[in-house]
Amino acid sequence: MNFADLGLSSELLKAVDDAGYSEPTPIQAQAIPSVLMMRDLIGIAQTGTGKTASFVLPMIDILAQGRARARMPRSLILEPTRELAAQVAENFEKYGKYHKLSMALLIGGVSMGDQVKALEKGVDVLIATPGRLMDLFERGNILLTGCELLVIDEADRMLDMGFIPDIEHICSKLPTTRQTMLFSATMPPPIKKLADKFLSNPKNIEV
Ligand code: AMP
Repeated sequence: MNFADLGLSSELLKAVDDAGYSEPTPIQAQAIPSVLMMRDLIGIAQTGTGKTASFVLPMIDILAQGRARARMPRSLILEPTRELAAQVAENFEKYGKYHKLSMALLIGGVSMGDQVKALEKGVDVLIATPGRLMDLFERGNILLTGCELLVIDEADRMLDMGFIPDIEHICSKLPTTRQTMLFSATMPPPIKKLADKFLSNPKNIEV
Protein backbone atom coordinates (compact mmCIF):
# COMPACT_ATOMS: atom_id res chain seq x y z
CA MET A 1 0.00 0.00 0.00
CA ASN A 2 1.22 3.47 -0.97
CA PHE A 3 0.16 6.89 0.26
CA ALA A 4 -0.73 7.65 -3.37
CA ASP A 5 -3.42 4.91 -3.27
CA LEU A 6 -5.36 6.53 -0.42
CA GLY A 7 -7.01 9.39 -2.32
CA LEU A 8 -5.04 12.26 -0.78
CA SER A 9 -4.22 15.45 -2.72
CA SER A 10 -0.82 15.97 -4.36
CA GLU A 11 -0.01 18.70 -1.80
CA LEU A 12 -0.48 16.23 1.04
CA LEU A 13 1.52 13.53 -0.75
CA LYS A 14 4.33 16.07 -0.99
CA ALA A 15 4.09 16.93 2.72
CA VAL A 16 4.11 13.22 3.61
CA ASP A 17 7.13 12.70 1.39
CA ASP A 18 8.88 15.67 3.07
CA ALA A 19 8.16 14.02 6.44
CA GLY A 20 10.11 11.01 5.16
CA TYR A 21 7.27 8.48 5.38
CA SER A 22 7.62 5.72 2.80
CA GLU A 23 4.31 3.95 3.38
CA PRO A 24 1.14 4.40 5.42
CA THR A 25 0.87 2.61 8.77
CA PRO A 26 -2.02 0.09 9.06
CA ILE A 27 -4.38 2.57 10.73
CA GLN A 28 -3.59 5.20 8.09
CA ALA A 29 -4.20 2.74 5.24
CA GLN A 30 -7.60 1.79 6.68
CA ALA A 31 -8.77 5.12 8.06
CA ILE A 32 -7.78 7.68 5.40
CA PRO A 33 -9.96 6.44 2.47
CA SER A 34 -12.94 6.03 4.79
CA VAL A 35 -12.57 9.49 6.36
CA LEU A 36 -12.25 11.02 2.87
CA MET A 37 -15.59 9.34 2.06
CA MET A 38 -17.01 11.32 5.02
CA ARG A 39 -17.71 8.28 7.20
CA ASP A 40 -17.64 8.33 10.98
CA LEU A 41 -14.81 6.33 12.47
CA ILE A 42 -13.89 4.48 15.65
CA GLY A 43 -10.17 3.77 15.82
CA ILE A 44 -8.90 1.46 18.54
CA ALA A 45 -5.24 2.38 18.49
CA GLN A 46 -2.42 3.34 20.82
CA THR A 47 -0.12 6.32 20.43
CA GLY A 48 2.78 5.39 18.17
CA THR A 49 0.62 3.71 15.52
CA GLY A 50 0.50 6.84 13.36
CA LYS A 51 -3.09 7.55 14.38
CA THR A 52 -2.62 11.34 14.36
CA ALA A 53 -1.88 11.43 10.64
CA SER A 54 -4.83 9.08 10.06
CA PHE A 55 -7.20 11.91 11.00
CA VAL A 56 -5.12 15.05 10.34
CA LEU A 57 -4.28 14.18 6.71
CA PRO A 58 -7.84 13.57 5.44
CA MET A 59 -9.13 16.45 7.56
CA ILE A 60 -6.78 18.85 5.75
CA ASP A 61 -8.07 17.71 2.36
CA ILE A 62 -11.71 17.91 3.43
CA LEU A 63 -11.22 21.44 4.80
CA ALA A 64 -9.22 22.55 1.75
CA GLN A 65 -12.08 21.53 -0.52
CA GLY A 66 -14.79 23.29 1.44
CA ARG A 67 -15.44 26.99 1.73
CA ALA A 68 -14.70 28.91 4.91
CA ARG A 69 -17.71 30.30 6.71
CA ALA A 70 -17.13 33.73 8.09
CA ARG A 71 -15.15 33.41 11.31
CA MET A 72 -16.61 30.07 12.26
CA PRO A 73 -14.30 27.14 12.97
CA ARG A 74 -15.12 24.19 10.73
CA SER A 75 -13.44 21.44 12.69
CA LEU A 76 -12.57 20.56 16.25
CA ILE A 77 -9.97 18.17 17.62
CA LEU A 78 -10.29 17.38 21.35
CA GLU A 79 -7.22 16.14 23.23
CA PRO A 80 -6.99 15.22 26.94
CA THR A 81 -3.77 17.12 27.70
CA ARG A 82 -2.00 20.32 26.66
CA GLU A 83 1.02 18.31 25.52
CA LEU A 84 -1.03 16.09 23.21
CA ALA A 85 -2.92 19.09 21.85
CA ALA A 86 0.38 20.87 21.12
CA GLN A 87 1.73 17.75 19.37
CA VAL A 88 -1.34 17.49 17.16
CA ALA A 89 -0.98 21.19 16.31
CA GLU A 90 2.63 20.53 15.25
CA ASN A 91 1.44 17.65 13.08
CA PHE A 92 -1.21 19.87 11.56
CA GLU A 93 1.42 22.47 10.62
CA LYS A 94 3.78 19.84 9.23
CA TYR A 95 1.20 18.10 7.05
CA GLY A 96 -0.64 21.30 6.15
CA LYS A 97 2.37 23.31 5.04
CA TYR A 98 1.20 23.43 1.39
CA HIS A 99 -2.31 24.50 2.37
CA LYS A 100 -3.59 27.81 3.65
CA LEU A 101 -5.61 26.61 6.61
CA SER A 102 -5.63 28.44 9.91
CA MET A 103 -5.61 26.83 13.32
CA ALA A 104 -6.02 27.83 16.95
CA LEU A 105 -4.57 25.86 19.84
CA LEU A 106 -6.87 26.28 22.84
CA ILE A 107 -5.14 24.95 25.93
CA GLY A 108 -4.76 26.00 29.53
CA GLY A 109 -1.61 27.65 30.81
CA VAL A 110 -1.45 30.25 28.04
CA SER A 111 -3.14 33.64 27.78
CA MET A 112 -6.82 33.54 26.89
CA GLY A 113 -6.48 36.96 25.27
CA ASP A 114 -4.33 35.65 22.41
CA GLN A 115 -6.70 32.73 21.89
CA VAL A 116 -9.69 35.10 21.76
CA LYS A 117 -7.86 37.29 19.19
CA ALA A 118 -7.15 34.25 17.01
CA LEU A 119 -10.81 33.21 17.23
CA GLU A 120 -11.98 36.68 16.28
CA LYS A 121 -9.84 36.60 13.13
CA GLY A 122 -11.45 33.29 12.19
CA VAL A 123 -9.89 29.82 12.08
CA ASP A 124 -10.54 26.58 10.20
CA VAL A 125 -9.42 24.19 12.93
CA LEU A 126 -9.61 24.23 16.71
CA ILE A 127 -7.30 21.94 18.62
CA ALA A 128 -8.35 22.04 22.24
CA THR A 129 -8.46 20.49 25.66
CA PRO A 130 -12.05 20.24 26.95
CA GLY A 131 -11.45 22.52 29.98
CA ARG A 132 -10.19 25.54 28.05
CA LEU A 133 -12.69 25.04 25.27
CA MET A 134 -15.56 25.04 27.80
CA ASP A 135 -14.19 28.23 29.43
CA LEU A 136 -14.05 30.04 26.09
CA PHE A 137 -17.43 28.67 25.09
CA GLU A 138 -19.08 29.80 28.30
CA ARG A 139 -17.58 33.30 27.90
CA GLY A 140 -19.22 33.47 24.48
CA ASN A 141 -15.94 33.52 22.54
CA ILE A 142 -16.65 30.49 20.36
CA LEU A 143 -19.46 29.47 18.07
CA LEU A 144 -19.44 25.75 17.34
CA THR A 145 -22.43 25.69 15.00
CA GLY A 146 -20.18 25.48 11.91
CA CYS A 147 -18.05 22.60 13.22
CA GLU A 148 -18.88 19.74 10.89
CA LEU A 149 -15.80 17.66 11.66
CA LEU A 150 -15.06 16.42 15.17
CA VAL A 151 -12.21 14.28 16.50
CA ILE A 152 -12.32 12.91 20.05
CA ASP A 153 -8.80 11.62 20.56
CA GLU A 154 -7.55 9.43 23.43
CA ALA A 155 -11.14 8.92 24.62
CA ASP A 156 -10.17 6.50 27.39
CA ARG A 157 -7.77 9.08 28.85
CA MET A 158 -10.56 11.68 28.64
CA LEU A 159 -12.66 9.27 30.73
CA ASP A 160 -9.88 8.81 33.33
CA MET A 161 -9.54 12.59 33.60
CA GLY A 162 -13.28 13.15 34.12
CA PHE A 163 -13.84 14.96 30.81
CA ILE A 164 -16.83 12.95 29.54
CA PRO A 165 -19.53 15.41 30.79
CA ASP A 166 -17.62 18.28 29.09
CA ILE A 167 -17.36 16.29 25.87
CA GLU A 168 -21.08 15.49 25.95
CA HIS A 169 -21.81 19.18 26.45
CA ILE A 170 -19.51 20.19 23.58
CA CYS A 171 -20.99 17.54 21.25
CA SER A 172 -24.48 18.85 21.96
CA LYS A 173 -23.40 22.29 20.65
CA LEU A 174 -22.12 20.95 17.31
CA PRO A 175 -24.36 20.45 14.28
CA THR A 176 -25.93 16.98 14.19
CA THR A 177 -24.99 16.58 10.54
CA ARG A 178 -21.28 16.25 11.08
CA GLN A 179 -18.50 13.72 10.69
CA THR A 180 -17.14 12.35 13.96
CA MET A 181 -13.99 10.32 14.64
CA LEU A 182 -13.23 8.74 17.99
CA PHE A 183 -9.89 7.22 18.93
CA SER A 184 -9.15 5.23 22.04
CA ALA A 185 -6.62 2.64 23.15
CA THR A 186 -9.38 0.67 24.90
CA MET A 187 -13.17 0.65 24.71
CA PRO A 188 -14.59 0.67 28.27
CA PRO A 189 -18.43 0.81 28.53
CA PRO A 190 -18.69 4.61 29.05
CA ILE A 191 -16.70 5.20 25.84
CA LYS A 192 -18.82 2.69 23.95
CA LYS A 193 -21.88 4.57 25.22
CA LEU A 194 -20.40 7.91 24.10
CA ALA A 195 -19.65 6.47 20.66
CA ASP A 196 -23.17 5.03 20.34
CA LYS A 197 -24.63 8.41 21.22
CA PHE A 198 -22.50 10.69 19.05
CA LEU A 199 -21.33 8.63 16.05
CA SER A 200 -23.46 7.33 13.25
CA ASN A 201 -22.74 4.08 11.41
CA PRO A 202 -19.00 4.34 12.11
CA LYS A 203 -16.30 2.30 10.42
CA ASN A 204 -14.47 0.34 13.13
CA ILE A 205 -10.73 -0.08 12.89
CA GLU A 206 -8.56 -1.90 15.40
CA VAL A 207 -4.80 -2.01 15.05
P1 AMP B 1 1.24 8.92 16.44
O1 AMP B 1 0.81 7.52 16.69
O2 AMP B 1 0.26 9.67 15.63
O3 AMP B 1 1.60 9.62 17.72
O4 AMP B 1 2.58 8.87 15.54
C1 AMP B 1 3.76 8.28 16.03
C2 AMP B 1 4.98 8.70 15.21
O5 AMP B 1 4.98 8.05 13.95
C3 AMP B 1 5.09 10.18 14.93
O6 AMP B 1 6.39 10.59 15.27
C4 AMP B 1 4.88 10.32 13.44
O7 AMP B 1 5.65 11.35 12.90
C5 AMP B 1 5.35 8.96 12.91
N1 AMP B 1 4.63 8.52 11.69
C6 AMP B 1 3.33 8.71 11.39
N2 AMP B 1 3.02 8.14 10.23
C7 AMP B 1 4.13 7.54 9.76
C8 AMP B 1 4.44 6.77 8.59
N3 AMP B 1 3.50 6.49 7.67
N4 AMP B 1 5.72 6.32 8.44
C9 AMP B 1 6.64 6.60 9.38
N5 AMP B 1 6.43 7.30 10.50
C10 AMP B 1 5.18 7.78 10.72
